Parts: sequence; structure tokens; C-alpha cells
Amino acid sequence: MADRVKQIKLIVNPNSQRMKVTLFLQSIVTRFEKGGCKVDVYKTGGGGDATDVAREAAKSGDYEVVVAGGGDGTVNEVLNGLMPNPIKMGILPLGTSNGLARELNISLNPFKAVDAILNGHSTKIDVGIANGRYFGIMVGCGFDAYAIEKTNLRLKRFAGKYSYVFAAIKSLYRYKSNRIRLIVDGQPLDEDAVFVVVSNARLYGGRYRLTPNASVDDGMLDVFVYKGRSIYRFLYLAIKMLMKRQLDSSDTVCLRAKNLLLYAKDRVPYQADGDALGELPVQIHILPLALEIVGTGAAEDAESIKSN
Ligand SMILES: [Mg+2]
Repeated sequence: MADRVKQIKLIVNPNSQRMKVTLFLQSIVTRFEKGGCKVDVYKTGGGGDATDVAREAAKSGDYEVVVAGGGDGTVNEVLNGLMPNPIKMGILPLGTSNGLARELNISLNPFKAVDAILNGHSTKIDVGIANGRYFGIMVGCGFDAYAIEKTNLRLKRFAGKYSYVFAAIKSLYRYKSNRIRLIVDGQPLDEDAVFVVVSNARLYGGRYRLTPNASVDDGMLDVFVYKGRSIYRFLYLAIKMLMKRQLDSSDTVCLRAKNLLLYAKDRVPYQADGDALGELPVQIHILPLALEIVGTGAAEDAESIKSN
């Protein structure tokens, strides 16, 4: 039986699902306290402050767990504050995709997620690193990073996951698919790509099985490579993905690696865990079992995998 958690730093992003956070924050704190746990709450103000607060909390030695309350962006910021020598991390999924939470069977019901953190069951996971920045879920190069760059933040707050769909449709017409070269564990890949996802997780965007054989604790990155040029074939593939169908086609390659270098002659943007980070080249590798996440495994499988 895992030890019960006693002392928590809770870093909440009040802008992710604002209503949910406003309505539930006090009840969440009360639930932690009733479970015998002391909670210090910090509400983020944007601009990466979650990283600094997580780093300070870990350094202070006052907390057993730092909990990220928000979406994949908040989880990524907290993770970056905790690495490279992290204390345990918890996740209260309050975002649009909740990718890492779904991957780790963390309940999307905030109260159930609190109970699971209090119970202290944990899972060690691999953490990826892309040009010095840590990621828990994936790095995308090409089309998805371009769409994220173009996603209007105000629209995102209003329309949630549909804002990405709008941005993606708009981007389909505008995006110039430049060629991406890959070096996989030191070996150049024969073929060029136009869209590459390097994933620690099975699910892309918290829902789609782009790399269904991936595992967060096998010390490997699963790589999805799309090398087709036709915009219509890409659209066909995107629709198949949205319908949660298998994506095997002559235009795709799946492989597994520990180290990758992606580069391009022309401008190709990349993103990590849904945040646009810049453009290629990007060097990516994996740190096996580098982070312990507490509160995992409590959700019914159907609950964490289903779309919301
Ligand atoms: Mg893996």
C-alpha cells in the first residue's frame, strides 16, 4: 500500500476551463484537507510562471508532491520546473486534451483525481527532451505545430478543442509542407517527411491513436512519419485519425528510437505537448523513468479514453 500524501503544492491555471476552476477550486482544497493533506495553492498568471513556482516548491523541501491543475500546457510547465531531479508530480486534469492524464488513467473528474493523489499510487514515466526542453507527451514537427502557432488563444478559451479544428482547416490551405530530414539513432532515414510526431504516449491530442504501440515507461520514443505530398491524402489521413481508425498507409512509417535529429532546409515549426516552440532543427532524446506521477491508475479505462 502506498503512503498517503501529506503536503502538496497545487499550481492551478485559472484560464484552463475557467468555470470549472472557479467552481471547484475551494472544494478541491477542502477535499485534500479532509484527506489529511496540507495544500498551498498558486494561481498562474501566464508566461511560464508555473515552471518557476514548481522549481521553487521542489527546492524548498516543503512538499512531497507538486500538482499541476490545468491542461497539457500547465502540466508541461510544471514538469519543466521539476526536472531534472524531480520530486513527485500530480495532475488535476482541467484542460482541453488532458493527454498525459488520459495516458496514465487519471480520472477527469477532479474529485476522483484528488482522491487518487491522496491515496498515493504512483507510476514512473519516461520524459522526453527536445532542444533542452522537457516533454511528457510528444513533439510534433510540421503541420500540427503550424496549426498550433495559428490557433487563436481567445478562440481556444471559447471553443476548446474545436479551435484546433478551425486552425487546422485554415492551415491546410496555407501550410507549405517543407521536407523534413530525420536522423534516427545515428542513422539517416532514407525518405523525407512532411509531418513527424515523436511520442512518449499512445494517444495524440489525448484521443487519437497515432502511435498506438507506444508506452510511457519503455525508455523509447515512438515516431510517426508522414511522407506523402498530396494535401488530399493528408486530409484523408486526418479524417481517419478523427474517426479513430488505424493509420497504416503507404505514406506513413512508424519507428522506435532513443535519439532523433530532425532538420530541414526551409522553415518547419515544431511543438512540444501542444506549445509552439520554434523551428527545426530539433534534437530529441528520452530519459527513462525520470519522473514519478502520483494519483495514476484510478480511472476506469473507458472514462479516461473516451472523448469529452
Ligand atoms: Mg515509450
